[in-house]
Amino acid sequence: MKAVVSGAGIAGLSAALALSRAGWQVILLEKAPGLRDGGYMLDFYGPGYEAAQDLGVLEGLRAAARPVGRLDFVDGDGRPGSSMDYQQIRRATGDKLFPILRGDIERTLHAALPDQVSLRYVTTITGLENRADGVRLTLRDGAVLDADLLVGAEGIHSSTRQKVFGDEHAFIRPLGFHTSAYFFGSAQVAAELAGDFKMVAIKERLVGLYEVEPNQIMVFFVLRAEGVERPRDPRPVLSRAFGDLGWVVPAALAAMPGPDEIYYDVVAQIVMPRWHDKRVVLIGDAAHAVSLVAGQGASLAIAGGRALGQALDGTGDIEGALARYEAQLRPLVLDKQRAGRRMADWFVPKSRAHVWMRDLTVNVMNWPPLAGLIGRYFSVSSKGFSLR
Ligand SMILES: Cc1cc2nc3c(=O)[nH]c(=O)nc-3n(C[C@H](O)[C@H](O)[C@H](O)COP(=O)(O)OP(=O)(O)OC[C@H]3O[C@@H](n4cnc5c(N)ncnc54)[C@H](O)[C@@H]3O)c2cc1C
Repeated sequence: MKAVVSGAGIAGLSAALALSRAGWQVILLEKAPGLRDGGYMLDFYGPGYEAAQDLGVLEGLRAAARPVGRLDFVDGDGRPGSSMDYQQIRRATGDKLFPILRGDIERTLHAALPDQVSLRYVTTITGLENRADGVRLTLRDGAVLDADLLVGAEGIHSSTRQKVFGDEHAFIRPLGFHTSAYFFGSAQVAAELAGDFKMVAIKERLVGLYEVEPNQIMVFFVLRAEGVERPRDPRPVLSRAFGDLGWVVPAALAAMPGPDEIYYDVVAQIVMPRWHDKRVVLIGDAAHAVSLVAGQGASLAIAGGRALGQALDGTGDIEGALARYEAQLRPLVLDKQRAGRRMADWFVPKSRAHVWMRDLTVNVMNWPPLAGLIGRYFSVSSKGFSLR
């Protein structure tokens, strides 16, 4: 059996790995000219943890994890608000959580792909015929590919979803924020961070900073913004939104790279009644983005790849297998999406009262007699809190 996977992000690479292990011939198409670097820091935990173990990549991922000392919330001038030991968060998950760069996850999955997986960069699908017995795809260079299955893994703005299920507007649920991330070099900012993950989380805005390599900083921004339109050049948007902040933020803004090296997107969820149609199936953010507010999008992308591979292992009933894949993953996704919507106002505080409550909660959790009590209502990750 032959599958074409469109998009070599975390979901696409995981699906390619899982399908090839299930005996499928896999062709992976990626529009970028090569593996993407860096991206941003994320917490890896949740359903993808065991899926990664099952796919044989967990050790590689753990080896690529980045050390984080403390998670500190500071105000717009860098004054401490609250702080927690990252190891405390890690222990709370039974040591099944680690911080890692998105690019390092992709690199690890890519390294695990068997030689039989053919990966074609700078390649996109321009024409798609979806039949009950297979797909016929036309590629950008005019080549035609026939396959038993097309897996759409192109992320939140998936072109396969657009072609098969309809316009993005029908499925995208913006959470009222935009986000951006890039890397820059600064010894001065590295000294300020001192090995910790620092979050300037003030009313309506958030800036996260972490030193990924000596004197190489990853910064990510979240700002309140309605709509799904993305600017061609994010630099003026970021300067306007964060230009009044102090501490290391002016240095981060002054070091902005060119627009092509800045990640910028809407913070949104993708909500669809169905993820498959005849011989086309969606996975990862393309099917069910949960958003950075919920966390676990990367984790669900790996879990989805593994679930798809398992469902399609040793069966000729493709549509039945796709239904099983969807039934297995959907409850997890719905749960995370609900949690994400509830968390939006906590993630980027809506008011000074939210900032105060967050600092109080974090500081109280550091006090052992109350930590257990609070832990019954909140779970904590480096991206914020989850209300249980
Ligand atoms: C700032 C931030 C913080 C986050 N924090 C966390 C966290 O703590 N924990 C967590 O688990 N998740 C987190 N996430 C979410 C996580 O990064 C995503 O859910 C995950 O990366 C989705 O992977 P994906 O492969 O589905 O999509 P993507 O990463 O979007 O990959 C899509 C791939 O498809 C390619 N592509 C696009 N269009 C085409 C096309 N037409 N043809 C061919 N290829 C195409 C792209 O180039 C890309 O390689 C965070 C996200 C952000 C933005």
